[in-house]
Amino acid sequence: MRYSYENLRFASGKVFLYGVFAAPLDLSGLDVLNTSREHVDVADKDSKQFERRLHAALRELNSTVTGKPTTYIHANSGIPLVGSNEFGIMDRGSSMVELRPLSGCNVGCTFCSVDDDRRLRDFVVEKEYLVAELARLLPLKKCQQLEVIVNPQGEAGYYAPLVELVADIAKLSEVVCVTLYTTGVGITPARMDALMAAGLGKISFSLHALEKDARVASPIYDPQNTMALARRAAKSIKVVLAPVMVQGVNEDAVQQVCRFGRQIGAMVLVQNFVSHKLGKKPAPQRSWEDFFALLASWKQQGILDDPVLEPLPIAASLPKPLRKGDIVDAEIMVAGRLPHEWIAVAKGRSISVMHAKAGPARIRIIRDKDNFYYGEVA
Ligand code: SF4
Repeated sequence: MRYSYENLRFASGKVFLYGVFAAPLDLSGLDVLNTSREHVDVADKDSKQFERRLHAALRELNSTVTGKPTTYIHANSGIPLVGSNEFGIMDRGSSMVELRPLSGCNVGCTFCSVDDDRRLRDFVVEKEYLVAELARLLPLKKCQQLEVIVNPQGEAGYYAPLVELVADIAKLSEVVCVTLYTTGVGITPARMDALMAAGLGKISFSLHALEKDARVASPIYDPQNTMALARRAAKSIKVVLAPVMVQGVNEDAVQQVCRFGRQIGAMVLVQNFVSHKLGKKPAPQRSWEDFFALLASWKQQGILDDPVLEPLPIAASLPKPLRKGDIVDAEIMVAGRLPHEWIAVAKGRSISVMHAKAGPARIRIIRDKDNFYYGEVA
């Protein structure tokens, strides 16, 4: 029996999912007739045993980017893609729908709101599952002018089927724009071209400085590469530069980003560093009053242009089958990213639950905003 999968590769006693997620694959004792990176041939008598070991291996994946155990969420995983803000499909009731195809990042931004160091686990979502669920849910938004934004808790460049994902989303009739948020890490010029050819309409680059700067991110983040990609993309699609400005750290660098944006015809949306409970805190957050006053003075000095923001079309929210206060029978399925966090499933939604254990449980919903669900064991 020949085993060959589009998403899997076999090498050095391991199985690799999407190139960056790997697990040991024990073939000892099996009658293996032939192997290559693309396939494994197993004698028919051992085929069931091989399938069992492969499925077990896919439950033990580790990210080669972050070194963390990784949960593979696929069409048969039983894990819904709406409900968690860590993976899947996010709908806040506007005409913009966000996708998180994976988590995990080694870019090491010093102001990261997610703070990967606090996260114990990563997620990766099967591309076909993500697209099929999106295609099923988008008609419920009752809007034919939707923007779908690929914006993971991590770096989208590490998602191997990114080009194919963009191509599949661009074909959906409700979608007028596919947007990608990225630092540019993991994206080569050829991949940038492929993304644009696949239907990418807009790209937002996290460009916080024009040179490498340890006060901003790890050396993996090369602003020169990001700038080259931005320059390339700006010839064909909308480009946004979204520098995060940290008080006392990169104000001068953000001014340079503004000038660069003007050079290449990109919109610049300066973001104030916001101090999140679970995020990194390299400096005190600048007050919003000071932030807007600073931007106003930059506009007066001709450093920063006013962004041209188009009005958003009206769109419906996805149905909310769970409400705050509900007590539901749920199945606690897999560990979440934070210590003691679990992902439970009820009524077609994923629910983040702290201090639980795998198996059936009664869950009280304690937060339901924006179709993100948080619960506690009742
Ligand atoms: S790229 Fe995003 S997820 Fe990664 S460290 Fe920077 S802010 Fe955090």
